[in-house]
Amino acid sequence: MMTQKKASTIWLDGNFIPSSDATVSLKTHALHYASSVFEGIRSYKGRLFKVHEHYQRLHKSAEGLGFQLPYSANVLEEATRELVTRENYEYGYIRALGWCGTRKLTVESRGIDVHVAIMGWERPINRNRPAIRLIESRWRRPDPRTAPVHSKAAGLYMISSMSRNEAESQGYDDALLLDYRGYIAEASSSNIFFVIGSKLVTPIPHSFLNGITRLTVIDLASQLGITVEEREVLLSDLQDATEAFLTGTSIEVLSIKEIKTHQANYTFNDETITNRLKEAFYKLVT
Ligand code: PMP
Repeated sequence: MMTQKKASTIWLDGNFIPSSDATVSLKTHALHYASSVFEGIRSYKGRLFKVHEHYQRLHKSAEGLGFQLPYSANVLEEATRELVTRENYEYGYIRALGWCGTRKLTVESRGIDVHVAIMGWERPINRNRPAIRLIESRWRRPDPRTAPVHSKAAGLYMISSMSRNEAESQGYDDALLLDYRGYIAEASSSNIFFVIGSKLVTPIPHSFLNGITRLTVIDLASQLGITVEEREVLLSDLQDATEAFLTGTSIEVLSIKEIKTHQANYTFNDETITNRLKEAFYKLVT
């Protein structure tokens, strides 16, 4: 589905090096204990979208796990700009990674070496991608007292991976995750919106990322005069929804045509408001 060009150059701890030289030891703390955070950032024809917000979040994500990145957001932004120029992506997807290294391999990680890498590849935009089908996951987004749910932390992506694998093995495109309380949370790697009546409804980011694309779409909706309601959403609320879509850096704004849940099967055909938002979104980013 995604075309991934092998990155020829990677920025690692301050230097641009060939990707084949960018390796880590098997004694890396992050591999054993998931002490790793990341960002996915898009570049459109050489222009990075909301890169500052992404690197601020990367720093916050690391702080959420109790470690500090040794490079400022400004340094990382500059490095990313240079990588995008060097690699000359048309539609680039940048992956920035911060992780705990090898100084110790115990659960306790205070004082450990922290590293950052930035890599990228081509990732086509989703503008003309047809609407997708979701199925409810058996996994749920955890209680904020269980995990740093607002960190984009590799450890939390175990839930996303398992949900997505399960959904795809059942013939669906993605999973819908409820939270630990039973409210609708998000998809495996994107936020979710519904059109109910004339309003745009989206769950409160209580146990999941308050996505940068989510915030962009909320902003665009208010500019277009569309009322946005952030509230707890139950599966049963979906019977009144006429449209549904996902938002995320990678998938951008993507329509949903069906959600299968343990209660019922919901279908969405109308894409009136979704299309207005998609148009505004692509106008903004390209
Ligand atoms: N939730 C999860 C689990 C994600 O992986 C992402 C993608 N980063 C999002 C939401 C959307 O976030 P953003 O719009 O900032 O990419």
